[in-house]
Amino acid sequence: MIETDICIIGAGPGGAATALKLDQLGLSSLILDKATFPRDKICGDALSGKVITVLNRIDPGIVDRFVALGEAIDVWGVKFVAPNEKEMDLTFWSKDSNTKDQIPGYVAKRIDFDNFLIDEVKSKERIDLHEGVKIDQYEKVEDGYIISDKSGKFKVKTKILIDSSGAHSSFARKIGGIEMDPRHYAASVRGYYENVTGFEEGNLIELHFIKDFLPGYFWIFPLPNGAANVGVGMLTSVISKRKLNLKERMLEIIEENPKFKERFKNAKLVDGLKGFGLPLGSKKRILSGDNYMLVGDAASLIDPMTGEGIGNAIYSGVIAAERARDCLNENQFSKEYLKAYDQRVYRVMGKELEISTYFQKTLFYPSLFNFIASRTSNNKHLREILSCAFMDIDLRGRMRNPFFWMKLIFNLK
Ligand SMILES: Cc1cc2nc3c(=O)[nH]c(=O)nc-3n(C[C@H](O)[C@H](O)[C@H](O)COP(=O)(O)OP(=O)(O)OC[C@H]3O[C@@H](n4cnc5c(N)ncnc54)[C@H](O)[C@@H]3O)c2cc1C
Repeated sequence: MIETDICIIGAGPGGAATALKLDQLGLSSLILDKATFPRDKICGDALSGKVITVLNRIDPGIVDRFVALGEAIDVWGVKFVAPNEKEMDLTFWSKDSNTKDQIPGYVAKRIDFDNFLIDEVKSKERIDLHEGVKIDQYEKVEDGYIISDKSGKFKVKTKILIDSSGAHSSFARKIGGIEMDPRHYAASVRGYYENVTGFEEGNLIELHFIKDFLPGYFWIFPLPNGAANVGVGMLTSVISKRKLNLKERMLEIIEENPKFKERFKNAKLVDGLKGFGLPLGSKKRILSGDNYMLVGDAASLIDPMTGEGIGNAIYSGVIAAERARDCLNENQFSKEYLKAYDQRVYRVMGKELEISTYFQKTLFYPSLFNFIASRTSNNKHLREILSCAFMDIDLRGRMRNPFFWMKLIFNLK
């Protein structure tokens, strides 16, 4: 049996960031993944400003090293298309002066991005990575957890367990008590296409809110070499109620909508359509207990409006690493002590998740959504603020105040 102070289950972005942050703090960790990398993860593949900012805080050179690999396309904005087809482009550069003075977001296939993070993990002596190990059993012992694979041959005893094993985490369900709640969970389908046309200058990622498909959305994200990541997402409760087949609906949207039909007329689907779940952060959960913390999708931290979860997975990993350091320094591992982890996660992300939950609710009311989209597309100042917010974490902080939004939308002084 391996004995360690900190063990991380799952080496996706959440787990990898936790290990990298621990390394930056001078702490060793053991990290396990059932997969052997490179491995795919079904995703929209969009890396927002939050991903870039938080990764650069862990290591100022890390994003440059990834971009240098040439596997990511730089994204200079987001196009929202309202049910009334009104388009709202939030760009991170001024089209008038054509200056790109902010940093962009990126779209990169997860097989590449996650493998890059794993290569970073492998380069650190303090991180002990084990691939191809699926953890199935968890036993609480007095001073931590003993976890093992199905055979019981691979066993780890750890003082602190960090679970970042994603949307289907059995630890989060069995020990953390996080049940799948269809009102706070979405299902999504994703396909890789070649030869989709009609992308805007600046490689904008596109979120289309289609009248007949609300409260769901259809996305088209550009990838390097003329490829695109295309998908649909919808709340699970609505899918069950309407008995929807997401794969069929996605193909219908492409074939029946004249705009998409034209853009996809020479497009080829590569490797079929694949589905996966999104545990949304539209409901507050308990994220820690005696000797453990939940990170990323295991903690249900996905933005309910946009489906963005990589940024919060990485950010929660950083917070978990810092709390783990405190635990070891103070020799405190109780759920009372670890509550500070939950408090900090929700202090950082809670308001933003709340705001997104409000916006998600507008998807049930197309005329309200249309109203907000019209207000925004006619208001240059509001568009600029929202654009900056994609990259600027401090501005996202100001956006937590509801008056900030009221002033902007209703143009109050
Ligand atoms: C269709 C779709 C589109 C999305 N689009 C976007 C997007 O464009 N941008 C964005 O930011 N977010 C997007 N998301 C959300 C994003 O994919 C997740 O939020 C993100 O992957 C969470 O990272 P994580 O590290 O918490 O979990 P994961 O990336 O799921 O990693 C979990 C890891 O744990 C491992 N694991 C699981 N169980 C075990 C076990 N028992 N033992 C050992 N290892 C285990 C897995 O192999 C995996 O490597 C999308 C999600 C979906 C489903």
